[in-house]
Order: sequence, then C-alpha cells, then structure tokens
Amino acid sequence: MNHFYYIHGVLNAEGTIVAELALQYGTPLYIYSAKTLIQHYDAVDNAFAGVPHITCYSVKANSNIALLHLLARRGAGADIVSGGELFRALRAGIPAERIVFSGVGKTSKEIREALHAGILMFNVESLMELERISEVAQQLKTTARVSLRINPDVDPNTHPYISTGLRENKFGIPMEDALEAYELAAKLPGIEVVGIDCHIGSQLTQLAPLLDALERLLHLYHQLTAKGFAIRYLDIGGGLGITYDTEEPPHPKEWGAAVAKALEGLDITLITEPGRVIAGNAGILVTEVLYTKHNKDKLFVVVDAGMNDLMRPTLYGAYHRIHVATEIYKRPMVKADIVGPICESGDFLAKDREIPVVFPRNFLVIFSAGAYGMSMSSQYNSRPRAAEVLVHGEFHTLIRRRETYEDLIAAEEPCLDEMIRDDLEHIERILR
Ligand SMILES: *Cc1c(COP(=O)(O)O)cnc(C)c1O
Repeated sequence: MNHFYYIHGVLNAEGTIVAELALQYGTPLYIYSAKTLIQHYDAVDNAFAGVPHITCYSVKANSNIALLHLLARRGAGADIVSGGELFRALRAGIPAERIVFSGVGKTSKEIREALHAGILMFNVESLMELERISEVAQQLKTTARVSLRINPDVDPNTHPYISTGLRENKFGIPMEDALEAYELAAKLPGIEVVGIDCHIGSQLTQLAPLLDALERLLHLYHQLTAKGFAIRYLDIGGGLGITYDTEEPPHPKEWGAAVAKALEGLDITLITEPGRVIAGNAGILVTEVLYTKHNKDKLFVVVDAGMNDLMRPTLYGAYHRIHVATEIYKRPMVKADIVGPICESGDFLAKDREIPVVFPRNFLVIFSAGAYGMSMSSQYNSRPRAAEVLVHGEFHTLIRRRETYEDLIAAEEPCLDEMIRDDLEHIERILR
C-alpha cells in the first residue's frame, strides 16, 4: 500500500504532481509520502499490539531527520549502528530510552556517547566488544544494559550481501557459544544483561526463517532463565521484505500474530527493528533523461541519477520498477539499459529493461527507493547529493536541500587554506 499513483497517466505523490516537484526542485530528486511512511510504521507497530513492545525503526534504511521526526512523533524508537545515527535520532526527538545500538564495530567513543545519552541497550556482537563496553561503562561510573546478538545460523533465503544470520556471516555470537558469552557478561562489572537479540537478514519474503530464528532464541531464553538470568527484552531484529517487483512478502500482521503466539505467557518486552518495510515503498527517485544512444543493437538511456544517488542496482543487482512520470499518450515499449553519468561500467539503474520510449527532458521514476537509497548515497564523481522532498497531501516540504559545489569542498577548504598559509617548506622541496 502506497500513495504514489497515476491519474490519467500523470504520477501523483499523495495530492501532488511528481513532475511539478521535479521541475520546481530539479533532479535527481527523492520524494517521500508522509502518509505512506506513517501507514507502514503503524502496520508494523499495530502488528505487535498484543504484546508489550517497542518498534525501533532501523535508522540506516533512511536517516533523514524529518522522517525520523515523523516517526518519533508516532512513538517510534530507533535501532542505530553508529554514533552518527545516535546523533540524528536524538536530534529528531527519539527518546534515548527507546534506542538500541547494534553493529559489529562500535568504537569506544561511540560507546561513551551512547552511555552518556542513556540509551536503552547495546546489542553486543562479540566477547571483545562486551569487555570494551564494560571498561567504558566503568570509566563513566555506570553500567551498560546489553543484549547479546546471537547468530542463530538460519538461512534467510535472501541476497548474500544482506544475509546476516548464517554462521559464515560476520554478525553476532554463534549459538553454541551463547551460554558461555552470557556467563562472561554476568561477571563483567560494567555490564547489566537484560536481553537476547538477533537479526538474520534483509528483504525476507518468507516468515519461516524469522520464526525459526525466534524458536532458537526462545530455546536460549529458557536455558538462561533456568540459570537465573533476568531476561527482560527479546529483540527479533528487522528484515521483513517489500514488493519491488513481483515479491509477495508476508504482511506485518502475519509476522506479529506468529510472534505473539510464540511469546504467550512470557514476561518479556519485544523489540523489533524494521527499516525497509517502513521506508522502502514510501519513497521514489525522480531522474531526468539526458540522452539516448545506440551502441550496435543496444539502447542506452542516460539519466541524471547515478549509482552515487541509488546504489542498490550496482551493489546487489537489485530490481527497481521504473516508469515515466507522465504518459498522457501510450508510448511504444523498448528494451534499454538505464545508466547514470558516473565513470563506472557498474553505474546502471536497470539492465535490459522494457520501458516506454523516452526523450531528453522526460522524467523517469524509480520506485521503491525510500530505503537504502539516499542513506547509501555518496558524492562520488564530485556529484552534490540529491534533494529530498516530503509530500503530505497537497503540501510538500523540502527536507534536504540539494548539495552545492561549496558543500563538496566544505571540509577540505579550511585545510587547504591552512596549508597555503603555512607555506610548508618541505612540500616546496618535494615540488622542486
Ligand atoms: C539493517 C538492520 C535492520 C533493518 O533491516 P531491514 O531489512 O531494513 O528491516 C535491523 N537490525 C539490524 C541490526 C540491521 O543491521
């Protein structure tokens, strides 16, 4: 369910015409639908209404602070994976006591910042990290609440780059080492063990792997409570898939019902970490056709968005539905590669794709770009990052201005100035 729809061949975002936004703000342009974002958040949150729970939106899916703010006002918590995401989440108004901190490589600085903010808990991924958190907490004369992220060794049947719950992945603590890890954690002075955590992968289109993982976690839960551990939180991660093409992922309701059944009678607060399922279909990327060209019998459509704007096709070979923003007359279909301006052969948005014939200045729309789109973008090839617009009914708000050339060098220029001012002698010598 989303609020991007064609009326007589003209794509609308809620009550706003997409092509008009593209003309007003330029391209490439990310457009989000507020209504869609909130509906998706509600769908997940309501799915778990039957059990005490916190829905911790996975900030890395889309970290724009305006979107985080909307979710905060709806009561969302956050799942973060860096100090930068902590900064964003707090600035957006997400309360620290609804923030969980995941990731295999937390630095001492990030741990300190999170303790300082008073986050709900760390999801700890290794024994060394556990010891590091304990040390930092002691230095701050506090204790850190932790869950251990367990790697349940289930195959989520998804792309290998977004599968995280297999033994061969770098994530989590292997199930067979879990008890030992909990016993170590209990002995560490700066640590308070409060939960069990897992996250097995992303873009999951079946429930079975999620429920298999839950079953394994519950087995561990019973072992731990028998040993006297007070486990108060069970974090089952995120990962629910969305429809990019023809996928038919389960509705959050089905996930919620199955989880509620499995948790019956347990005195526990559930945490979920949904990202893609909330933001993915709440956003589109609009790009302008620059040129078309034929190399032998291949047709290329060159557009002004590249892999620096939307990396998923390049990184995962991911499929995004692509269509023209305006089709007032029926256009013949052609097969083309849709490619960006970046100097890399891997810079494509679609390959061998059937699309309507397009001409320079037409707008193409890349659907399902709300998650892992802007948040994975870069300035590669010194391309200022795209603007982002939030549509709410007939209204829209610019929530990130287009970057400028000045933005490209803002962090470098003062250093260059200093280098020139100091008139570094040894550099002069090298240049001679
Ligand atoms: C990326 C991530 C998520 C969110 O995954 P989605 O597939 O976007 O729902 C949740 N938890 C952790 C630990 C993650 O790394």
